Amino acid sequence: MAGASRQILDMNAFDSGADGLPDDPLLRRRMRNFGAASVLFYSRPIEMVSAKGAWMEDAAGIRYLDFYNNVPSVGHSHPRVVAAVQAQIGQLNVNSRYLHSLTETYLDRLRATLPGGDWNVVLGCSGSEANDIALRAAARWTGGTGFIVTETAYHGNTAAVIEESPAALKRGAPPAHVVAVPAPSAKTYGKDIAGGFAQAVEGAIEALAARGHAVAALIADSIFSSDGVFADPSGFLGPAVDAVRAAGGIFVADEVQPGFGRTGRMWGFERHGLSPDIVTMGKPMGNGYPISGMATRPEILSKFCEDIGYFNTFGGTPVAAAAGLSVLDVIAEEGLTENADRMGGYLLDEIQSLASADPRLGDVRGAGLFIGIDLVSDKDGTPDPAAAKSLINALRDRRVLIGAAGQLGHTLKVRPPLCLTEAEATFFVDALRAALRSMTAPTPQAG
Ligand code: PMP
Repeated sequence: MAGASRQILDMNAFDSGADGLPDDPLLRRRMRNFGAASVLFYSRPIEMVSAKGAWMEDAAGIRYLDFYNNVPSVGHSHPRVVAAVQAQIGQLNVNSRYLHSLTETYLDRLRATLPGGDWNVVLGCSGSEANDIALRAAARWTGGTGFIVTETAYHGNTAAVIEESPAALKRGAPPAHVVAVPAPSAKTYGKDIAGGFAQAVEGAIEALAARGHAVAALIADSIFSSDGVFADPSGFLGPAVDAVRAAGGIFVADEVQPGFGRTGRMWGFERHGLSPDIVTMGKPMGNGYPISGMATRPEILSKFCEDIGYFNTFGGTPVAAAAGLSVLDVIAEEGLTENADRMGGYLLDEIQSLASADPRLGDVRGAGLFIGIDLVSDKDGTPDPAAAKSLINALRDRRVLIGAAGQLGHTLKVRPPLCLTEAEATFFVDALRAALRSMTAPTPQAG
């Protein structure tokens, strides 16, 4: 291993200790207001003022191509979403304890995107809330108390879900009822990723049992975003899910990142030929308007509701429904799932061809508009997080915003809006080539 594992929020973050506190009044106010919980991108944080499509503009008028943010997924400030939210908030915005046809129209449309059979949807405001209720419903349905996650997973910030999010741990290990297995990479499992990953999950089921916890669920982000983006071979999740079900547990597909077209399909789990027991969704669901959902089978939700009622003041308001419905409309009418597939394929080819000529770029992989690029220090693929950090900053200087993922933070996360044009994709490839050229000094060995 080439260094200590990194906490996800530390990646490419401003650090007033290491970076100093520049003489910037806004930054000083920020630090006073947010205190220790402040997390800002870049050692020289950027003040943003506006955004449109795939571009953001800062206070100095500099425009940046957004290759990081997967929330405004149909494009920043999309006129259709803006108009839908504005019209509805001017008419009625109230909690879901009144009937409203827009909310039902939205949920009818959303449910129709899920695999066959009946679904109910619980609406909330954040991915964390969706996963929180998913884990509780899984435990209630199965009678189990154990959860299986991947080693660098992030599923949210509530008291329950943070325990299933090893990527957020600054120290220590997950609690006894959670077992983390290595992410499904070829590096860990070799050629048989499906078999190796299933075996690791079987081992986790046994480890949980030995600690007195029957497995309740395997929860996985179906493209393993924070683990470093692992998409192939499609179908590799199947045997692991079978193993969990055979042991009495269920499968929760966390679609907070891969959902809503990003992988070139509506849902990331579709690439695995799976029908999950629970699907959680958030981030791009309202293109920036806070809306999330937990979809499950009616019998699972009924069992959960026998003990506990669920109500969410801001979940499922008519305004949330207007935002969500306009996102579904835009995805369909602008062909964004197909665009993710097409532009993702173009980017993957271009980046792979850069990587074949540059030993600092290792494995390049992904699906649709979600691509991971490993930065490495040798031909054995030794992770080089320092090079990833330099490249992120060199790209910022070339007007491209991008982030890192992976256990060590050495994987560049290519994740632009789904409305990306070919000219914008080419802008990125040119910037990447120029940024690599600018990093002529040998990259220090991580560790
Ligand atoms: N699941 C995944 C896969 C995520 O990436 C995130 C957020 N990064 C969450 C859940 C939590 O979502 P939220 O921040 O909206 O609570």
